[in-house]
Amino acid sequence: MLTLSGSALETGLTAPALFRLTTVPDLPAPLRAQRAFLMRGLGDVPEGYPHYLVFDRDPIPANGAAFTRLDEKFAYLSDDDIVHLSPHGHVRTLFRSASNHNSILLTEQCNNYCLMCSQPPKRKDDRWIVDEVRQLVPMMPRTTKSLGITGGEPTLFGDDFLDIIRLCKSWLPTTALHVLSNGRSFADVGFARNYAAVDHPALTVGIPVYSDDPSRHDYVVQEKGAFDETIRGILNLKRFGQRVEIRVVVHKQTFERLPELAEFIARNLVFVDHVALMGLEMMGFTRANLDALWIDPIEYRDELSAAVAVLRAYRIPVSVYNHQLCLINPDVGIAYVKSISDWKNEYVPECDGCARRDECGGFFSSGVKHGYSPSIKPFPHRHPAVD
Ligand code: SF4
Repeated sequence: MLTLSGSALETGLTAPALFRLTTVPDLPAPLRAQRAFLMRGLGDVPEGYPHYLVFDRDPIPANGAAFTRLDEKFAYLSDDDIVHLSPHGHVRTLFRSASNHNSILLTEQCNNYCLMCSQPPKRKDDRWIVDEVRQLVPMMPRTTKSLGITGGEPTLFGDDFLDIIRLCKSWLPTTALHVLSNGRSFADVGFARNYAAVDHPALTVGIPVYSDDPSRHDYVVQEKGAFDETIRGILNLKRFGQRVEIRVVVHKQTFERLPELAEFIARNLVFVDHVALMGLEMMGFTRANLDALWIDPIEYRDELSAAVAVLRAYRIPVSVYNHQLCLINPDVGIAYVKSISDWKNEYVPECDGCARRDECGGFFSSGVKHGYSPSIKPFPHRHPAVD
């Protein structure tokens, strides 16, 4: 697992700053102003960069420029990555150019309180993040393929949230944008209309629906009436022609009615653009509510098969995320996606020698740490039919 935030060994910064990194010594002078030069070992130190990053025991820049020294946890940093550095030595990696899993956390506040929230909500005012994001987006490479916007609940920032979408449209016009939202704000027709009016060319909002039974959904998100608002939000978004993905996290509270939920989606929300059936991540509240949530995926593999079959029968695009290939029925393979973000993806010793490891998404690092299915079984052959 990559370390995305931590402490520097030392820093000469006197004020917090965002830097896009480069190892190119001869960038045109105007481009150097917002970049930090990433030094590796000895070598000439190019002039004109406002900051320099050095590693471990590397020599400091001989030109006397301000520098921050990082340990090898940050050795993955490379050209066009973007970091936030504080004068107290706190380092946060906000963007990695080599990754297809970059996302912006817009707020830690949320109006749901989901049993399995991986980013437990905080009540404090964190609108300062919006200002940071206004700085961050224009620094990202225009070639960025995809970008997520998450929270908390990012739509709680209302017009500021819409401004960020507009900013992404202006600076990253070819970047696919994926917003994660509980969908409740879109129950307000005016807000849904304003969101649509941004007219972003490649924008999808992913909205969780946990059950066809409103009381079960409300229990999972710990908010009475949430189901009604979420469904109204989805309907408003589709009314305005917006792309919507439904996301279902499968766990002990949701697996039994998975086929019924698929039927509900097929009958009432057949126009959604995608449904993602997702395995549980052992982060945040999940760890505290493990007894109420954890179920071995092998135990719900038939429900998963049934849900995939229903959605496919109605021609609704469906994907299965965050599962291990050896724990699903072969008929789910057609919807299986290797999905776990690269920076938190691992395999376990049982995977050694598995013939299909390169097709398998493996585990969240948190899952490896806090327990996983005893039924993990390496495939002896590449094709499941011969196993
Ligand atoms: S044994 Fe193979 S299929 Fe199972 S989790 Fe490991 S790599 Fe994936």
